[in-house]
Amino acid sequence: MSTTPSNDPVEWLKQLVACPSVNPRGGPIDAPPFGEARLNKMLADTLQHWGADIEFQEPLPGRTNLIARFAGRDTDRSLMLECHSDTVSVEGMTIDPFIPRIRDGRLYGRGASDTKGAMAAMLAALAEILENGEKPPTTVYLVASCNEEQGATGSRALMESGFRSDAAIVGEPTGLRIVDTHKGAVRFELDVIGRAAHSSDPSQGINAISQAAQIIRCIDGPLAAEIAHHGHPRLGPAVISVGVIRGGSQVNVIPDHCTLEIDRRLLPGETAETATAQLRQHLDEVAAGNPLLEYQLTQTQYYPALESDPHSAFGEMVQKTVRTITGNAVFDAAPWGSDAGAFHAAGIPVFVFGPGSIRQAHSADEFIELNAVHTAAKVYADLIRRFR
Ligand SMILES: [Zn+2]
Repeated sequence: MSTTPSNDPVEWLKQLVACPSVNPRGGPIDAPPFGEARLNKMLADTLQHWGADIEFQEPLPGRTNLIARFAGRDTDRSLMLECHSDTVSVEGMTIDPFIPRIRDGRLYGRGASDTKGAMAAMLAALAEILENGEKPPTTVYLVASCNEEQGATGSRALMESGFRSDAAIVGEPTGLRIVDTHKGAVRFELDVIGRAAHSSDPSQGINAISQAAQIIRCIDGPLAAEIAHHGHPRLGPAVISVGVIRGGSQVNVIPDHCTLEIDRRLLPGETAETATAQLRQHLDEVAAGNPLLEYQLTQTQYYPALESDPHSAFGEMVQKTVRTITGNAVFDAAPWGSDAGAFHAAGIPVFVFGPGSIRQAHSADEFIELNAVHTAAKVYADLIRRFR
């Protein structure tokens, strides 16, 4: 990676896509293309040359958050520009995921939209300011965090470490709209424990699959109905679903184990705690009518929901910036989650803004329109200069 600041976001995007950072999803992280550490190291080496103070965190073994700090003229105020470093897997992709190719004004490659396009634009914005010999008005943090795609672990660990900024922009493919509100999610593994027996006499065992089926009926029935009762004016109702079921070993054995993976989308105002309490209450009701039911519930992932105020001082500043550059500033509510939820939960004013489309994120031929990347770079640079 070049050590002199380059304000061309396309050059950055090529380098970012060519450095694979696939989320290992629990698998090994020591071999490419998996893990964020290589990408974050490469960024750190460059940003250090630009005068940044570098800090790494390791929220998961071998997986890092990078915090690059550029001191501003006013070091009491700070703006964070944040992106996640991980991408989804490359399974089923119809293009070469790590050889960036430009065609018809688009750059193709894994992560181009989600979310290396935004990261490239942030790097170019900073470079433009630094190469002019400018010092930003306030301190600027460029943060690249890990494991967004599997539970936003990096952003939550960043907040747990006590890191704070006075405002934040999270780079995700919002189509250059300003996302002020999005859903959150909490995910669970629910292990149902039964007792094995020969299938010639099931009464000698406890069928964990049949027990799990009772729980699924409860989740899809009374619990889903209760959850759907409360809606959000822009996001609609909260939802719950069972996405994975594993159980049994062979057809003539009463299964002693069945595991469900449960996905619960959260509305602003709901938290992992409130959703877990609600789920537990329904599980207790199933257990009350079924003394043989034995289970263990584990929370595996948590993305807090986002609901920022567009009319706040920072909201109006972001709006003004986007309107100045693009001629149009639209606030939006999104069904997906992002690192912004953790920052919002910690009290940081935050909006999500970036180039690219969520339709292109995770897709088999992921690409990004380069015009949008250039526009986003201008927006980020203007915001850095405007922020006080
Ligand atoms: Zn993303």
